[in-house]
Order: sequence, then C-alpha cells, then structure tokens
Amino acid sequence: MSEISTSPTRGPDAGTTRERSRLSFDLDVDVCVVGAGLAGLTVALEAARLGASVAVLEGRHIGWGASGHQLGTVMPGYGLPIKDVIARVGFEDARELWALSKQGAEYVRANASEQSIPEMALSEGALEVSNVDVGDQLISRLQMLAEDFETEVEGWQVDRVRDHLKTDRYFHGVYFPRAFQLDGLKYVHGLAALARRAGARIFEDTPVVSIDASGIRKRIVTPSARLRASHIVLAGNVYLGAPSRRLSETLLPVWRYAGVTAPLGERLAETIAFKGSVTDTDGIDHFRIVNGDRLMWASPETTWDARPARFAPAIARRIRTIFPRLGQVEITDVWGGAAGHTVHGMPQIGQLRRGLWVASGFGRQGLNTTAMAGQLIACSILWGDERWRLFSPFELVWAGGAIGRIAGQVIGMWGRGSSAAAGALARYRERMRARERLRDARLAEANRQAGTRPPRPRPSPGRPSVDESRVEQSRLEQSRTERSRPERSRPERPRPPVAATPEGDGTS
Ligand SMILES: Cc1cc2nc3c(=O)[nH]c(=O)nc-3n(C[C@H](O)[C@H](O)[C@H](O)COP(=O)(O)OP(=O)(O)OC[C@H]3O[C@@H](n4cnc5c(N)ncnc54)[C@H](O)[C@@H]3O)c2cc1C
Repeated sequence: MSEISTSPTRGPDAGTTRERSRLSFDLDVDVCVVGAGLAGLTVALEAARLGASVAVLEGRHIGWGASGHQLGTVMPGYGLPIKDVIARVGFEDARELWALSKQGAEYVRANASEQSIPEMALSEGALEVSNVDVGDQLISRLQMLAEDFETEVEGWQVDRVRDHLKTDRYFHGVYFPRAFQLDGLKYVHGLAALARRAGARIFEDTPVVSIDASGIRKRIVTPSARLRASHIVLAGNVYLGAPSRRLSETLLPVWRYAGVTAPLGERLAETIAFKGSVTDTDGIDHFRIVNGDRLMWASPETTWDARPARFAPAIARRIRTIFPRLGQVEITDVWGGAAGHTVHGMPQIGQLRRGLWVASGFGRQGLNTTAMAGQLIACSILWGDERWRLFSPFELVWAGGAIGRIAGQVIGMWGRGSSAAAGALARYRERMRARERLRDARLAEANRQAGTRPPRPRPSPGRPSVDESRVEQSRLEQSRTERSRPERSRPERPRPPVAATPEGDGTS
C-alpha cells in the first residue's frame, strides 16, 4: 500500500523509502506491541513514557494499514451511536466512556502540537450533516451531547448548512467546534518518532508469526528472532492473522477508499465554504478541503481488498452527485485501508488473559479511540489503572467469517440504498413545501388585492414541521423554552375567500 499525506509536502520520515530496522536478534522487554499503526504506536509511546522497555514489531512498515490512509478527522465519540452505548451500559458508564473518547481526542491534539510534531497544521471544526430533514431529532441529540455529555456542539439550521455547503442534499447539521483535522500520515510517523524518543524500539518488516502467552514471561516468534516479554499488546487490526486467529475472526474488515481531486480553483471555494471535515449522519461520505483548493473524499467501501484505483470514477461521480455545481472533477490519487469493525460497533480494549492485551476494532473513528486505548492499556500495565474494564460489556464476538463479510457487504449496500431513498424523499418533501409556500404567497397576494381573507388553515394530517428557530442551538436552553404561540384572529367578519387551486395562481 502506498502512503498518503494530506499536506503538499511530506515529512522527512513519511516516505516508504526510509531505512527500516528489522529485528534480527533475540530480545527481552517489558512490553511487546504487535503492529505499528495508531493503536500500537500509542501504547508504545505511553508505556515507554511510563518507564517500560518496549519493542514494537511491525510486519510491513509504520502506517502500512488504515493508520497511514485515514483522513485525519479527530472527533469525540465512537462508531456506535451514543444512545446505543447508553442502552448497553447505562447512563453513567456511557458518560465515562464518552469522556474517555474526548480525552483521546485531546491527547492527539497535545501530541500534534508544534513542539512535538512540527508542521502539523491543525485545522479546527467538524460538521456532521443530515441527509434527511429531521431537525427535531437533532435537538434531542444536541441536548444530550451538550448537557449530559459536556461536549461543545452547535446546531445548524438548513440555511446555514447550505450557506457553507452548496447542495440540496444536506439538511440540518451538528457542528463540533473542538473537533479538528490533521495530516494523518504525518501524525502516525510523528507518533513513531515520539515513541522512539521516549525509548521504544520499532522493528519493521518483522511479522509476528506466533505467540505463547501462557507463562509469566511470554514468547513471541518472528521469522528471524524471538522475544520474551511480560506483556504482549495485540494491535494488528484485521491483519493480525496467525498470532491469534480467533481474535482476527472477531473483526469484520471493511476497506474504505478515498481520493483527492486535482486543484479545483475558485469553484471549490464557491461551493464549499466550510474549512473543516464534513461527514453525513449515515456515514456514507466524509470529505474536506486540502491544500487550499483540492477536495479529499472518502466514500466507497468493500468487504474485500480491491485495487483502490478502480474507485476513482466512483468517487468523482459521488462528488458530482452531492455538489453538481463542481461539474467534472479529476481524481489524481486514490488509496484505501481496512478498518476493523466489531459486531457491537465498539473497540476491543482490554486484557484477554494475564499479560495479553488487545487494542483493536477501531472502525472508522480511530484517531481518538486508538489514543484512548493506548493510554488506558499503558496505564493499566504500569499503574494498575482499571478503567479499561468499562469496555468489558463489549465482548469479543465472532464476526461471522466469510458469510459475515458477505452479509456485511449486503447490509452496507442496503444501508446506502435506504439512505439514498430517505434523502430523495426528504428532498421531494422539501420541494413540495417550497411549492406550497409559493402557492400560499400567491394566494395571500390575490386575497390582498381582492380585499378578502384567506381560509382558515386546516390541520395537517402529517408530522408537525420542525420549528427552525429551535434548531439553531448555540444556546440550548433557549430552544427548550421557545414555543411559538398561535396568532389570535381578529374579530372581523371575513369576506368570501379566494380559493386555492392546485397550481395556486389564486386568480379565479
Ligand atoms: C479511508 C479511511 C479514512 C479514515 N479516516 C479516519 C478519520 O478521518 N478519522 C479517524 O479517526 N479514523 C479514520 N479512519 C479509521 C482509522 O484509520 C483506523 O481506525 C485506525 O487507523 C486503526 O488503527 P490500528 O492501529 O488499529 O490499525 P492499522 O493502522 O491497520 O495498524 C495495524 C498494523 O499492524 C500490523 N500487523 C498486523 N498483524 C501483524 C503481525 N502478525 N505482525 C506484525 N505486524 C502486524 C499491520 O501491518 C499494520 O501496520 C479511516 C480509515 C480509512 C480506511
């Protein structure tokens, strides 16, 4: 897999041509980490900072997996919606889990500071947009996040979303001002540099072929050397393979493909004014502007490893579908990575048996959650911190093997299909409402000219419409108390009204 940087210039340590050190001699350490992705490197950094001797064994090279191919959006939370987390573990534990996920994001921010990883160029803010018109659901989500989970969030009305994103595909939005984005590839290599500086040793081209975790001192076998360690941390994501097949089988690998356009010039700024990352609530598209006038976009998914270049036309089509005014776009680079999804949607963080740890299953939201996992596991190994037990209710569940993958692909396609249908329906309703408003305006004008009053509106049989003023929620309290009161009718005897025709020119 080639590596992708979201900045115009790659860091000196970011290329695959850099000299790699392979483990060719036997070694004794406190902690052996399998896998040099975000998860493994964070465990290594934290364990080394706390004074342990640490060796990281990576089968290919640093950032070879999903970690070197992500879009760099750092947000609080998990792949599993928070209401489902509450349903599973209860409100108090859900709050603690959420707080940990926020700490994970802040940990990434601290690491990515200019002093630790120079030239990271963080940009602030992420926007989650809805494909359907569900402002009322948004209000309860905002209230929960802001009040119960102490997260800075703002609700954006449809107009505000569309001021920033010129498309009729998106409706309301939730803005996370504390979320941010960074250059994903630079970050993973920066993390490796920090871990080395803290004393960890990282060996690349060193696949772990087997482990024996039964004794106090555990044994790790690689093609040309053996290790002994008191703790092993399995952070191999979906690639772990032989060292623990049963663990690998608890993950559904989903390859996600992303691409970047050629420079789009002024038309990009005219279409997308939002500077941070955008994701939709159905998890279909994820994009942001990079290098001033290029669009980085992730969308297609498969449950098998396909050639990323194949997906360039699909990404270009998707961009055109969402932003027709961008016209044809050229995709200059495409890449993909496998995110490991668990059956329950939460990451696998914890101790499998004494001294054998797992940090895996981070799905699509891996930056904050790998950071959190690394800290929790290192603190537990060295200080006896037991907070990883908050993840115990999310057990290792078999992901269904080949059948599970086929089912995953079908469910994914069905999810995308139903999201597209729901989006089309929402846009249709919106067009109908606009037409109704136009008809009402014409009717009102006709009545004004004729000196008559419009007929009393009949109650609508459908769902009540969302009071937009309640959605603009920088101050949530306001939204709770605001209620529109029905206007009092004047005690004047109405003259016969002008009737509304289906097309509503109101002149008959
Ligand atoms: C296209 C895309 C965009 C994404 N965008 C974002 C984003 O914007 N924000 C976000 O938070 N998340 C994002 N993610 C998700 C994020 O990238 C992952 O959750 C995260 O990188 C997982 O890290 P990891 O360390 O668990 O796995 P990996 O990065 O896959 O690392 C595992 C490593 O272990 C090594 N390994 C495996 N088995 C062995 C073995 N037996 N011996 C030695 N080494 C082994 C592999 O070679 C690999 O390098 C994205 C993912 C993709 C695919």
